[in-house]
Amino acid sequence: MNAGFFYTLLLLFLLALLARWIKSKEAEWIGSYGEYKVRKTTKKIEATSSGKYKAFHNLYIPKEDGSTSQIDHIILSDQGLFVIETKNYSGWIFGEETSKYWTQVIYKRKEKFLNPILQNKGHIKALRNWLGEEFAHIPIHSVVVFLPRAKFKSDARFTHAYVVYPKQLKQVLGQHETNAIDRETKQRLAQKLETVLIRDKKQEKEVKKRHVQTIRTKQKQTEQHIQQNRCPKCGGVLIVRKGKYGTFKGCSNYPKCKFTQSIG
Ligand SMILES: [Zn+2]
Repeated sequence: MNAGFFYTLLLLFLLALLARWIKSKEAEWIGSYGEYKVRKTTKKIEATSSGKYKAFHNLYIPKEDGSTSQIDHIILSDQGLFVIETKNYSGWIFGEETSKYWTQVIYKRKEKFLNPILQNKGHIKALRNWLGEEFAHIPIHSVVVFLPRAKFKSDARFTHAYVVYPKQLKQVLGQHETNAIDRETKQRLAQKLETVLIRDKKQEKEVKKRHVQTIRTKQKQTEQHIQQNRCPKCGGVLIVRKGKYGTFKGCSNYPKCKFTQSIG
């Protein structure tokens, strides 16, 4: 084997490794790019609003069950809070406001993904709970942002959410002209939001780890309860029943509690 041939092989091998690494990082990069793009837009809106808007990025809202809800961006204004969910899909996007899944069509391939409006609804619910009584009167608006490489093909005029591209964000904010909150409340809201900001990668990793652990512990508890014939939902007694589709454990508090678990 001569040296030239050897180096060619080595080079090919290294290129293959590099290609594999790029592929493994691709989704992460595209994801970060989307985040970056929307973050840039919101920062610009904030900077040119002379104090009217304040943007928060990457927030982890604690939930009652110990898990967390991650929110990409929140813009605080005199009109309330705008909760922004960023989507980095490309291709054609089809979706209805209330359907569970939306569709992405790319190169004749169809992929389903969770309806981002419903996803954001979950975030907003968590945010509402966490904000509590004190801020119960604050309007919260739902905004889903797609990057321009996605083409939204359905009618995008929804009743309970905005589905827009980054350059339309400013327009969305301007649509709510009434001043719903006073200066002092706005300040207190800002202070509260500051407490759940993720500062760096390390902190983000820890929060995510805790989130996964909480969900696992919860699953284990649920399994234990079912084994002991205790309803994980209401604490009632579970009774073995035979139904059309096989044997299952059902809650004795039915129809008040509808918990069931099939046991084959
Ligand atoms: Zn029950």
